[in-house]
Amino acid sequence: MRIGAHVDSTDPLGAATARDAETVQFFLTDPQAWKDPAPRDDAEALRASGVDVYIHAPYRINVATLNNRIRIPSRKLLMSHAAGAADVGARGIIVHGGHVEKGEDIATGFDNWRKAFEYAAKAGGFATPVLIENTAGGDNACARRFDALARLWDAIGEFEPGFCLDTCHAHAGGEDLLTAVDRIKAITGRIDLIHANGSRDDFDSGRDRHDNLESGKIDPELVVAVVRAAGAPVVVETPGGVEGQAADITFLRDRVGR
Ligand SMILES: [Zn+2]
Repeated sequence: MRIGAHVDSTDPLGAATARDAETVQFFLTDPQAWKDPAPRDDAEALRASGVDVYIHAPYRINVATLNNRIRIPSRKLLMSHAAGAADVGARGIIVHGGHVEKGEDIATGFDNWRKAFEYAAKAGGFATPVLIENTAGGDNACARRFDALARLWDAIGEFEPGFCLDTCHAHAGGEDLLTAVDRIKAITGRIDLIHANGSRDDFDSGRDRHDNLESGKIDPELVVAVVRAAGAPVVVETPGGVEGQAADITFLRDRVGR
């Protein structure tokens, strides 16, 4: 099992070494900015390294929204970050499922996702596989509740998108972790990456606050069960810097092996 962490973008390979990580995830730009990625000096080193690289897309991206002033730049930004991800040899670009606003028809949100994939397909497709991540909050999210996820996949399944399961988001989003992997695979047919995180909040709280595996409100053995069942690479997005994340990586490795 390949296990690692979300790290600072300054020196991902150094950060991986410090954590004894086999996977790393990082942002190519400030995650709150609308900014295309710049070429990286360490692109060649990242491509050549034995570490599996994943890129997280900026949080601003919401390709589902009915607001075209956000939707259009969102799909462009996802394209440019997928290209930047390809440049560093990334195995996937992780993007949140997005949402529509209160009172809006979520069916349009699913259709906007389809349009984003069609838009990309016309330009030759995304340069890196897009892994859509489940989210924790909101009543109008495309990938919080798995019933919505099923409708999303009805809209975009033909484009064969990937899926990233975040354990904190599933717990806070009100989806039972014990059965989550089977239920997701029944919808998407795949799980490409696990974000193995604890949660500072209660089940179905709708809040997105990650915690370390052994101190959060999710039974850590439940996270282990998810990792085992999914059989996918793992990234911890947990607090505590090198020490905190290395402890989470060790905790998982001791239970699921290398
Ligand atoms: Zn995540």
